[in-house]
Amino acid sequence: MAEQESLEFGKADFVLMDTVSMPEFMANLRLRFEKGRIYTFIGEVVVSVNPYKLLNIYGRDTIEQYKGRELYERPPHLFAIADAAYKAMKRRSKDTCIVISGESGAGKTEASKYIMQYIAAITNPSQRAEVERVKNMLLKSNCVLEAFGNAKTNRNDNSSRFGKYMDINFDFKGDPIGGHINNYLLEKSRVIVQQPGERSFHSFYQLLQGGSDQILRSLHLQKSLSSYNYIRVGAQLKGNLKFVVDGDTPLIDNGKVVSIIAELLSTKTDMVEKALLYRTVATGRDIIDKQHTEQEASYGRDAFAKAIYERLFCWIVTRINDIIEVKNYDTTVHGKNTVIGVLDIYGFEIFDNNSFEQFCINYCNEKLQQLFIQLVLKQEQEEYQREGIPWKHIDYFNNQIIVDLVEQQHKGIIAILDDACMNVGKVTDEMFLEALNSKLGKHGHFSSRKLCASDKILEFDRDFRIRHYAGDVVYSVVGFIDKNKDTLFQDFKRLMYNSSNPVLKNMWPEGKLSITEVTKRPLTAATLFKNSMIALVDNLASKEPYYVRCIKPNDKKSPQIFDDERCRHQVEYLGLLENVRVRRAGFAFRQTYEKFLHRYKMISEFTWPNHDLPSDKEAVKKLVEHCGFQDDVAYGKTKIFIRTPRTLFTLEELRAQML
Ligand code: ADP
Ligand code: MG
Repeated sequence: MAEQESLEFGKADFVLMDTVSMPEFMANLRLRFEKGRIYTFIGEVVVSVNPYKLLNIYGRDTIEQYKGRELYERPPHLFAIADAAYKAMKRRSKDTCIVISGESGAGKTEASKYIMQYIAAITNPSQRAEVERVKNMLLKSNCVLEAFGNAKTNRNDNSSRFGKYMDINFDFKGDPIGGHINNYLLEKSRVIVQQPGERSFHSFYQLLQGGSDQILRSLHLQKSLSSYNYIRVGAQLKGNLKFVVDGDTPLIDNGKVVSIIAELLSTKTDMVEKALLYRTVATGRDIIDKQHTEQEASYGRDAFAKAIYERLFCWIVTRINDIIEVKNYDTTVHGKNTVIGVLDIYGFEIFDNNSFEQFCINYCNEKLQQLFIQLVLKQEQEEYQREGIPWKHIDYFNNQIIVDLVEQQHKGIIAILDDACMNVGKVTDEMFLEALNSKLGKHGHFSSRKLCASDKILEFDRDFRIRHYAGDVVYSVVGFIDKNKDTLFQDFKRLMYNSSNPVLKNMWPEGKLSITEVTKRPLTAATLFKNSMIALVDNLASKEPYYVRCIKPNDKKSPQIFDDERCRHQVEYLGLLENVRVRRAGFAFRQTYEKFLHRYKMISEFTWPNHDLPSDKEAVKKLVEHCGFQDDVAYGKTKIFIRTPRTLFTLEELRAQML
């Protein structure tokens, strides 16, 4: 049991609640938040509430308190879960993973960093230089990724705009020897446009504000943020690539910019100009240069800018992976190398205007919720089975139906979107919405204005709504087709492939194809994302999972406010009450016979100071019968299971009287 602090701090584990009810859950959560106890267990799950202030609970002395201890021996903390994942990995050579979920701004990224710091702090006791080097790189990779992949949003000043899954590899001694990062869908549309109050990626501002004069000069940049269209905060602009129209045809407004771009991309001015204004198309046997309209030229420019940034980001991840990858580890000599994975991925998002990106992000969260449901239930079931104890089923809202709505082959939203994108000729977002209406109109988790004219939530004809497990989200179809096709004219790829800078050239391998060779349609953005999510979930499911469920206490980034309504909603959709119920339905507590005896043997004369029974199991039985709890427990093969928390309280009280 989580070491009980004084009750003034509330209950350290929600399974200890007198009744499993929302009011009691919320009262406990609020009390603990107000007392600065931001972590609470549900069995082996850590519930965390973002404190929005620095707490003195992550230092060396706290780390020492958790090192090597059992989960329930200390007050709830991220360190407890990190230690549990580490111990399971080390003792049983099992791959484990820590899945951190919660909505944007709930504290996932901070939690992942504390977990990494803890693991770094408790490993490598012999201070091997090579291991120290690896630890350093793993920890420091974060700053680089955050610079290029995080941005200020209205929800979070340092919001991760990409998903991150990081494996840490350990050798047979349990010391980190390397790692690997998988990144998921960078929100690259942010490069060219941001919602009011938001910013582009940190890297732009860091470069302009922090770059030395010399660097800025070599990049032809000026310090003033307001000079740049893509990142301006609404000021006068100069120095950007714009098009003016002469008759029907666009011309480049500011020719000097083109030569700067050419210089920076190590290519030629006329080639840049051509890629911006024309595209090569194959018509029958002929290959012609077709001139863009102004709209096409602007589209091409923006797509190019987004692609450069996205590929740069992937390149950075690859570079980090090259450096942190496990080297010179011979499994035949050193034994198995095991892994702890840490997943910090964008949380559920509802903005005023939700687009393709929110659709992908929220689908990702549906997948993770599904995994949580399966694993939490599955793990409980398996433990009861292993221990030979009958299992009683608990009802959950199973969100599989929403996962299917999005990802099902041929029938799901992604399939319908891909179909629309596959059509030759002009396809509009509205046509996509039509297709959704006709194919999904009857689905209980889908609606759109056409289908329910009186619907107040849907303001525009271009909206559709998904009833997510976490709440209703209205998506605007505007931009879905473009973002899903993610077209980048081959001319840009060729331009980059012909760059004399080898780094740039290597980022664009498809650029070597000529227009007649480009036949295969690339996979769409949504399908690529779907495939990466399926692979991610498979990977997580193959490991022993530990969960951190993050809650955002208010929308004002305030350390003072515990917004009951907002918190209750999150508790609800995260399924935390059901989590408590599952935990209690079976048995609230379980412990190996040996550990149980160790803690409670002083209660009974049959076991104190030592027992003379044939096994610890027999001794525990004797002790339990002596106390009269035999009806509230079950005896598994290696563990005792206790149904109600009250029994455990009483045991604790009896123990305290003896000490
Ligand atoms: P998420 O990744 O879930 O979107 P973050 O981890 O970026 O959210 O947290 C948002 C902000 O909240 C952080 O920048 C920080 O100011 C604050 N915060 C989150 N967790 C903590 C914590 N444990 N202690 C102090 N502040 C925190
Ligand atoms: Mg984050």
